[in-house]
Amino acid sequence: MRNYANKLEETVLNTRELNVSFEFFPPKTDEMEVKLWESISRLKNLKPSFVSVTYGAGGSTRERTHHTIKRIIEETDLKPASHLTCIAASKEEIHEILRNYWNLGVRHIVALRGDMPASSPNYQLHPHGYQHANELVACINKIADFEISVAGYPEKHPEAKSFSEDIDHLKRKVDAGASRVITQFFFDADTYFFFVERCRKAGINVPIVPGILPVTNVKQAKHFAKMCGAKIPQWMEQIFDGLDDRQETRQLVAGIVATELCRILHNEGVNDFHFYTLNRADLTTAICHVLGVRGN
Ligand SMILES: Cc1cc2nc3c(=O)[nH]c(=O)nc-3n(C[C@H](O)[C@H](O)[C@H](O)COP(=O)(O)OP(=O)(O)OC[C@H]3O[C@@H](n4cnc5c(N)ncnc54)[C@H](O)[C@@H]3O)c2cc1C
Repeated sequence: MRNYANKLEETVLNTRELNVSFEFFPPKTDEMEVKLWESISRLKNLKPSFVSVTYGAGGSTRERTHHTIKRIIEETDLKPASHLTCIAASKEEIHEILRNYWNLGVRHIVALRGDMPASSPNYQLHPHGYQHANELVACINKIADFEISVAGYPEKHPEAKSFSEDIDHLKRKVDAGASRVITQFFFDADTYFFFVERCRKAGINVPIVPGILPVTNVKQAKHFAKMCGAKIPQWMEQIFDGLDDRQETRQLVAGIVATELCRILHNEGVNDFHFYTLNRADLTTAICHVLGVRGN
């Protein structure tokens, strides 16, 4: 009889301790807030190392991000990480936000430049602001002893002239004091492994945590991917082909696709995973369960 290697078995029997973190966005309506908190109360049982809350470029979600972070601190034992973008703020505004976060009890910042608004092609960065995330990281270090994570792009940031230049810029962020890179989402494990290899060669030695986006809607994912320079592989379009009107099936397929990616990463030694939850608990819980992250 042929001995088929059962890779899923390898994953399930692998007893390495894993660290997971979850990303949420600040809700816009009361109804969305209720859904977010249902998700947080389910996902907190998985004991994430931290949970992060996004921040609209240009400060558009400033109050809502702050409100969500405050509730996390006041109502849970979770460690919050607040995203902070610098694109449209003066240095003084950024310093004030950081001091407020520190006083609130935040100890971890995901430091970002923020996206240029697609609607304004000639957008000018704030003249008295920080121009790039490496400058923001250096500033955060001066304000207080925050833990700092930064963004990395396995398929290159869309504005970067080349992959190697983008990695040089990433190194600047780490040299300025970031202790973790969280990657943009990607769908082929090799893309991540290649990126990590290039980062290590460039002397980036901090953890490079894969950002995992469970996709239920490939059209929406294509839209996100276009904005951030990620690729939707052909096989992914094929796997969702014909499922536009079959939401439940798409949900199951999404779980299979994301679990398969995590399984490969896990079997190759990846111990840390950051999930873009889109404020939903179901898929992330299922993937974590397969990886052996069970919580209570
Ligand atoms: C994990 C993660 C979380 C995110 N969270 C948010 C969020 O909450 N809110 C939000 O609005 N967006 C978020 N984003 C998106 C992010 O803001 C955009 O991708 C943005 O366009 C770049 O941000 P950055 O921090 O990577 O910028 P930077 O590191 O400043 O890089 C931006 C571009 O400039 C280049 N560059 C960098 N430094 C220099 C330099 N010193 N000189 C010249 N060129 C340079 C880089 O190669 C890159 O092309 C997130 C992305 C990731 C991966």
